[in-house]
Order: sequence, then C-alpha cells, then structure tokens
Amino acid sequence: MLPFLFPHLYSAAEVFYPVPFWTSNMKSDEGKSAGFAPEMGDMNAAEFRRFGSDVINWVSNYLEHVGERPVLSQIKPGELISELPCTPPATGEAMETILADVDRLITPALTHWNHPSFFAYFATSSSAPGIFGELFSAAFDVKAMLWRTSPASSELEQVALDWLRQMMGLDAGLGGIIYDTASVSSMHAIAAAREGLDLQIREDGMSGRPDLPLLRLYVSEQAHSSIEKAALTLGLGQRSVRQIPVDAEFRMDTSLLAQAIDEDKRAGVLPFCVVATVGTTSTSSIDPLPAIADICAEHKIWLHVDAAYAGSAAILPEMRYILAGAERADSLVTNPHKWLFTPFDLSVLYCRRMDVLRRAFSLVPEYLKTSEDETVRNGMDYGIQLGRRFRALKLWMIIRYFGHEGLAARIREHCRLAQSFARWVKESPDWELLAPVPFSLVCFRACPNVREDSEEAYATRLDLLNEKIMNNVNANGEMFLSHTRLHDVFTLRLAIGNIRTTEAHVRRAWELLNEEMARLS
Ligand SMILES: *Cc1c(COP(=O)(O)O)cnc(C)c1O
Repeated sequence: MLPFLFPHLYSAAEVFYPVPFWTSNMKSDEGKSAGFAPEMGDMNAAEFRRFGSDVINWVSNYLEHVGERPVLSQIKPGELISELPCTPPATGEAMETILADVDRLITPALTHWNHPSFFAYFATSSSAPGIFGELFSAAFDVKAMLWRTSPASSELEQVALDWLRQMMGLDAGLGGIIYDTASVSSMHAIAAAREGLDLQIREDGMSGRPDLPLLRLYVSEQAHSSIEKAALTLGLGQRSVRQIPVDAEFRMDTSLLAQAIDEDKRAGVLPFCVVATVGTTSTSSIDPLPAIADICAEHKIWLHVDAAYAGSAAILPEMRYILAGAERADSLVTNPHKWLFTPFDLSVLYCRRMDVLRRAFSLVPEYLKTSEDETVRNGMDYGIQLGRRFRALKLWMIIRYFGHEGLAARIREHCRLAQSFARWVKESPDWELLAPVPFSLVCFRACPNVREDSEEAYATRLDLLNEKIMNNVNANGEMFLSHTRLHDVFTLRLAIGNIRTTEAHVRRAWELLNEEMARLS
C-alpha cells in the first residue's frame, strides 16, 4: 500500500514505521533513564553511540524510501503547531520520545526535497558524503572567523574551491569564498563592485551626500530577485537597478544594455555593475557573456555573473562554453547546493579582486588580532559574518567521493532526461515548449485544441487549465512541479536535478500530466 494513494488516511510515517523503530533495539528499562539529561554535561558516550546509530539507520531508510512519500507535505497550515506543546519541557525528555516525534510529527510536515519526483523550482538534493560532511561539521562546531579558530576550515575551503574552479574550467585568477546562499554571495559581490569605485562609501556611507551621483546596476528582466534585494540591503535602492529587456529566448539584449549605459552616463548617472545570468531562474536562459564583458570592459564596469544553478553544468567539458567570457568577469556565483548534490547551504563566490572584497568588509577589533594575520586568510575579513560554518568539508567529501567524472555523469544524465521530456512535449499536439532547454529545466504548457470564441478567451482558458493541472498533480503527492509566467502565459516548469531521479520518474511525470490534462480538457 503506497502512502500517496491515500494521503489523507495514512501519514507516511505510520506506513513505514508502525512502531517507532528507535525503541525496537532497546530494553524497556534502558529506555526510561537513557534519554533524560543528566544534571550536568551532555549525553553520555554510550547513549550517543546508540542513538547515533539509530539516527543513521533512520536516515538511510528515509533516503531509500523517500520516493514513496508524498512529495509536497499534506499538512494544513498551523497543523504542526497545534500538535506541539505551547510551553517548553521543564525537565529533559527521553531521547527516544524526541526521535519518535521526529518520525511521527516532523517528517509528515516536510516537503521532501530529496524526493526523486521533486521537479519544482530548481530540483536539488543532498548526497550521502555531503550528509556525512554536515555531521562532522556539527560535531566539530568550529567558527571559522580567523585562520587560527579553524585552520582546517580555512585551508580546506581554499583547496575545495580551487578544485571546483578547475572542474568548471575557470581561470586561476579567481579567488573563492563560501557563503550560505547565492543571494548573500551576490550581495557581497555588489558591495565589492561599489567599494571598487573609491567613493569613500565605506567611510562616509551614501546618505546625506550631495557629492554622490546615482549609482546604477544593470540586470536583465529575467535576473533573480536576489540582485534587487542586494541593492535594497546595500542602501542603493530599487532606483539604482535598471532592468534590460530580453530577446525572444529570454537573454539580455546587449544593444539595449549599451544604450542604457550611454543614456545613464549622459544623464550624470554612474554605471558601476552589470549582473549577467547564466541559467536564469524562470527559463535557464544564458545571457551573452562575451558581448556583456566587452561592454563592461569598455566602460570599466564590474561584471558579476550569476550562475547559481547552471554553473555546476560547466564541469561537463561539452558545457564549458556557457562560461565563455567569465575570464573577464570580476566575480561569479555558483551554488553547489543547487546542482552539485551538496546539502543546503553552500554557495561559492569567485572573485578576481579579493583585495577589494576584503577592503569592503574587513574590520578587526583588538581582541581578534593575531600574530599570523599577515600570512593567513581570515574568513571574517571577506563578509558581514564573523563566525562561519565549516561548509567546505561537505563539498570536499562530495568531490572526492564522486570524482569530477562521477559528478559530470549525473548532471549529463539530468540534461538528457530533460531533452527526452522536451521531445515528448514537442511531439505531442496537446503540449508545447515555451523556452529553449539548454540545461535540465523544461518550460511548457498544455495547449489542447479547444474551441473558444476569441483568442483572449482561449488564452485565459489555457492559463486556467495549466494552473489546474499543476495544482492537481501537486495535490496528488506523486510529483511536484512549479510555474512561471513567460510572455504573460502561465508556464509549467519541470526541473530535473535530484540525484535519485531516473528516467522512470520523468516518464511517470509525463503520464500524470497527460492523465490530468485529458481529465480536465
Ligand atoms: C536560485 C538562484 C538564486 C538564489 O539562490 P539562493 O542560494 O537561494 O540565494 C540566485 N540566482 C539564480 C540564477 C538562482 O537560480
């Protein structure tokens, strides 16, 4: 009996674990005292070992069977809150009770990103070596603010990022630094771009300064919202962001970019940064990097490349072309937590001018000065965070476990599956593709031949139909996909990026979509 057939009758947890399995290998008197926190100190080593092995077994079971659970959580808003006590426990509870609640209450309230039929947004997944890396990181619990507070983290970060740089075919002129997300990476890149202007903004800020012109940042209409958020955060404001229109394939129109820069310069505005996107969020389109790099070089503008999702594809020799022009970029962000099987979070900022990034953020109080400051890299100098997680460990373990070729093979397979899906769409009279498929994202919609009085009525009807198809297949729990709007048309997005996704899952998705379309139209 599969849980997705009766999502409202059975929670997945009950189906898989009729008896909370933590208790299964435990004698009953052991269970009582074992989990209660002692007067002082942490859980004892024997208990840690026992519960630790239970947790690993549970996680292993979870990952093996995650595909049988409903992808999208079936709970209603507020349902989990209503199941949990309003006040904290005054005394410690047994660990087995806590773990049983993870199984019974928390897991059904999850949307399962590791589910092989998770096709929404950009599908991502963790992998076993990455999960182990997270476990070690939690155990070490270092704060990599200074080299000396975690030499391993500081040095492994440089090694892992240099490996990744080589795998992506990026030049050795780039230094790298890990942040939590692409949003934060891009914010730091834009701050560095601004610092590079030498306008004393670090010292004097921007407010109350009649000597400052309006600073301008250029992105395409398809750029990620994180760029505009960075402008908000840095006090540049939305007015400083100029959106450049895209061509029919959703790529930045570079003649309009050049025109906008000229226009701004004539009006006394100071162009300081262009963000080009390789793999936009709606359609995975690729801005023409070489032409944009030419324009940036001509006007001495910082070029930041947002390759948060698609950057990972550059580790395929046949896909390296997507980053052609990056050798002239000042910075580039890519997210191993998106398409390199790395547990969230791990975003990488490569930067050609690490000294400028450092100048934008370095601020060292007396109590953080060390004797080796001149010879080492202190992570805290390159961003707003003081303490930094030991994230490099999981990336280093993943690269070692799968190898460059192993990682490339998996990404190549995702692209192949997306091409197959795109072909089924193209070959069906009832469906159509709405954007090119350069990576593993397919934008499409149902367009069955239905009669309507006007073109407008037909367009509205298709929008409603596609939205309904999406909502229905998502509610069923067997798969999960998301949408966007392209040329004002409701567009379904099927993104393939999960390490457990196989051709069978993609075929089943196509079948479910067709069943739903036939039922509704
Ligand atoms: C996903 C994505 C982002 C944001 O990623 P976070 O790491 O969640 O901040 C930014 N840009 C692009 C192109 C993306 O696809």
